[in-house]
Amino acid sequence: MGTTAKKQHSRSQRAFERGREILVGGVNSPVRAFGAVGGVPLVVDRAQGAQIWDVDGNAYLDFVCSWGALILGHACPEIAAAIADQAKRGTSYGMTTELEIELAEMLQRALPSLERVRFVSSGTEATMSAVRLARAATRRDFIVKFEGGYHGHGDSFLTKAGSGLATLGIAASPGVPQALAELTLDAPYNDLAAVERLFAKHANAIAAVIVEPIAANMGVIPPVEGFLAGLRELTRRHGALLIFDEVITGFRLCFGGAQTLFGIEPDLTTLGKIIGGGLPVAAYGGRRELMEQVAPLGPVYQAGTLSGNPLAMRAGIETLKQLSAPGFYDALDRKAAMLADSMRQALSDAGIEGHVARAASLLTLFFTAGPVEDYAAAKKSDTHLFASFFHEMLQRGILLAPSQFEALFVSAAHSDDDVRRAAAACRESLAAIRS
Ligand code: PMP
Repeated sequence: MGTTAKKQHSRSQRAFERGREILVGGVNSPVRAFGAVGGVPLVVDRAQGAQIWDVDGNAYLDFVCSWGALILGHACPEIAAAIADQAKRGTSYGMTTELEIELAEMLQRALPSLERVRFVSSGTEATMSAVRLARAATRRDFIVKFEGGYHGHGDSFLTKAGSGLATLGIAASPGVPQALAELTLDAPYNDLAAVERLFAKHANAIAAVIVEPIAANMGVIPPVEGFLAGLRELTRRHGALLIFDEVITGFRLCFGGAQTLFGIEPDLTTLGKIIGGGLPVAAYGGRRELMEQVAPLGPVYQAGTLSGNPLAMRAGIETLKQLSAPGFYDALDRKAAMLADSMRQALSDAGIEGHVARAASLLTLFFTAGPVEDYAAAKKSDTHLFASFFHEMLQRGILLAPSQFEALFVSAAHSDDDVRRAAAACRESLAAIRS
């Protein structure tokens, strides 16, 4: 059981204050600043397995896991060894390697819709590039996305977005030209009729619908029955492309993506996080005749100095090898179910109105009664209560994402004991915030 003795954060505090004098807001990605929950942001020293230590020596059980990238936990020995070995052979060549081909083949075997693949270095690059390609291929300009969805920080994706924008209450980012923002159409998640209305209003002008097949950036919201199949049918009928943004769901739910689980074939797919084993890798891919419009075969330009980086490819290959072990996902699912069930029980015992959403090893505890099927419902969650819950958990040695609008990630490195510890901390934390 985690200790409730007050933790010391003096070194973290000093480091964060020093960082604030040079890094914007003391961070390199906004949510890390703990803006929505307050308190001293975590300044990390090291991590191993499911544990992460701050510079004050406090240990936490980590359910952020680098925002879902680390499905095998921190510093997985095989991945660390592969990276170390590769580092001796060179860290970047700016030329093709067999490693890129090997990882791409592994992705294709798991996701047959990826007839051709292009590696990039971040999820943002993958989604931006997929949309550029969709616009070029259809010769149309509008895209449809969903309120509360997050597809990285590309200019076209910053309206009514989830993740950090939801956390900070930024409805639309300045700096995006109005003319471009107007080409992004937003619909409520899980609302097929709304998408149909957009197609009716913008006939023959919508290039693509981009969707997180399981929403995980407004908290976790699974698709309702028929939603994804409906999007597939609607996009086909209207000559638009369907882009599955599987940056979070890729290799998170099963060895493949949400498309594998739901049996739906998108035209284009974006991947990131897990496929890089904790190094900066993402990818986009899809039907051959579409992808072959990308340079050098076609005129749609997209490139990257570090794309297909060999260190990152080695980490990705090693990760996928481990994920393909029989029973890997069943074990993860069982632990996540155990955690979700005990959170539900703890809510009910504490008499707190809440809803635990789970899709495989993605979880969110919303402080609002279910069902939560779209961003409007997610936003009803009591974020002040979440902030108190977050700090009670942190005090008990459990690190959650510092935002209501993110997922909790269970990794293979979390043992049954770890899950029991988190469940006990959850019970105590909910009791502590009930008042
Ligand atoms: N798409 C989704 C679904 C994401 O969750 C994220 C990041 N959390 C991105 C795209 C952007 O990826 P990155 O942060 O690597 O740019």
